Amino acid sequence: MTLEQTMAPSIAETSGGRVIIEQLMEQRLRVLSGEQQDRRFFALDKSAELGPTRYTERSTGRTIDVWCTNDYLGQSLSGTVIGAARDVITACGVGTGSVRSISGTTSLHFDLERAIAEFHGKQAALVFNSGFICNESCLYVLGKCIPGLVILSDEKNHASMALGIINSRAEKVIFRHNDVDDLEAALKRLPRERPKLIVFESVYSMDGTVSPIEKVVALAKRYNALTYLDEVHAVGMYGPTGAGISQELGVQDEIDIVQGTFGKALGTIGGYVATTSLIREFLIQHAPGFIFSTSMPACIIAASLQSLREIASAVELRKAHRANVQKVRTLLDSDGHVVMSKASHIIPVFVGSAALATRATMTLLERHRIFVQAIKPPSVKQGEERLRITPLPQHSDAQIGRLRDALAELRRELPPLARHETTLEGAGL
Ligand code: PLP
Repeated sequence: MTLEQTMAPSIAETSGGRVIIEQLMEQRLRVLSGEQQDRRFFALDKSAELGPTRYTERSTGRTIDVWCTNDYLGQSLSGTVIGAARDVITACGVGTGSVRSISGTTSLHFDLERAIAEFHGKQAALVFNSGFICNESCLYVLGKCIPGLVILSDEKNHASMALGIINSRAEKVIFRHNDVDDLEAALKRLPRERPKLIVFESVYSMDGTVSPIEKVVALAKRYNALTYLDEVHAVGMYGPTGAGISQELGVQDEIDIVQGTFGKALGTIGGYVATTSLIREFLIQHAPGFIFSTSMPACIIAASLQSLREIASAVELRKAHRANVQKVRTLLDSDGHVVMSKASHIIPVFVGSAALATRATMTLLERHRIFVQAIKPPSVKQGEERLRITPLPQHSDAQIGRLRDALAELRRELPPLARHETTLEGAGL
């Protein structure tokens, strides 16, 4: 049941007030939990001692194999990354005490931005406090400040992009996921002189699909549009130095704005865009998420910088990661699980109902000491609930074996699942 369906009729019947608001909230939460659509999470503590694939469950002290982190390469526990943060926190303290444009910019902030620009082969980069804030703020600014801009956005774009676009009130056209024909049809309908921005991702986080970047770039050229590419799930993972799928395909230069995060493969936190000096300056002067938020602590910036340096030469780690992804995916596929996409390092296993997905997660956790979070709406459509598995290079064969056996047992116990047909394309591993 949607939020509107749960709340709207009651709102119409009420005259407002605090009690009513609380009742409506309780009602909505009851519906969510009754349908098992609610988000449940657990205190699972990571430690340098156990490494990036095994966490400790606070409530029981048990060690749990984790298969759903976006710390794809385990960089959050890299000794040198930790050391970089520790050195700076000792020397400079924790918070910056200010937004970037007052007294919250350290020399490290500039160092990181220069390093990011170089990493993506761009003139300049701008760091934000998270990838979410970055997307939301940048797209808001572009849509709001460029008169007549039309934003063409993939239907599966992340909520941070969708929100930025909606809030900007720019005219938007949503094209079908990864469908260049639909995108071209939309571009054709627009007058050539209208400013246009195509917004898409390289790796789609919940589906694991990969966008046809070369084709989108060709269309952008033909129809004179700017491109904004979210490489959040690809940074660190693809391309000779890990700069993403656009680097792997050799089309980095064709993308006007590359957006990324430090929060996934780089193992820290924060977001950024790499682009032209002009666009960077425009964002500095206009982006609310940049202007009005206390800047990231220098220790985090130092850790991100260190992680970026390491990731650029982490060829062997990327190879080991791909080998593990391949291994897990092949095993699950051969055991009859419905692997919804095979295009990237993200392995979505179809379940198809929130209740079943919740049951799967809880059974894996309680019986097998394995954690794979159930993915539910609004992250995915209702009826497309799934387990999203993200192997790390550090997962051992024994852990892979345990996952396989646990999922096989689960499959025998759960009611038969509908087949999910997917036609997916992309870089592949
Ligand atoms: N873009 C995509 C595609 C994402 O999946 C996410 C987060 O999951 C973000 C942006 C936001 O990045 P961050 O986690 O750094 O806020």
